[in-house]
Amino acid sequence: MPIFEFVCEKCNHQFESLMMASDRKNPVCPECSHKKVKKLMSAGSVRPQGIPSGSGGFALPKCAPAGG
Ligand SMILES: [Zn+2]
Repeated sequence: MPIFEFVCEKCNHQFESLMMASDRKNPVCPECSHKKVKKLMSAGSVRPQGIPSGSGGFALPKCAPAGG
């Protein structure tokens, strides 16, 4: 069964609830019975990201030949 996490917008209480396919309404907060809850993303997918390719290309200052 799909279990989704919700957070109450009133008391910020986080709870889990089952979401049936036929039941499309959000659950209510079990703490304060508030109806406005936000569904959280499932924290199960972790993928590496933010690694830029082609690092380097650092322009070092050349040592000018002194004298001459
Ligand atoms: Zn609440």
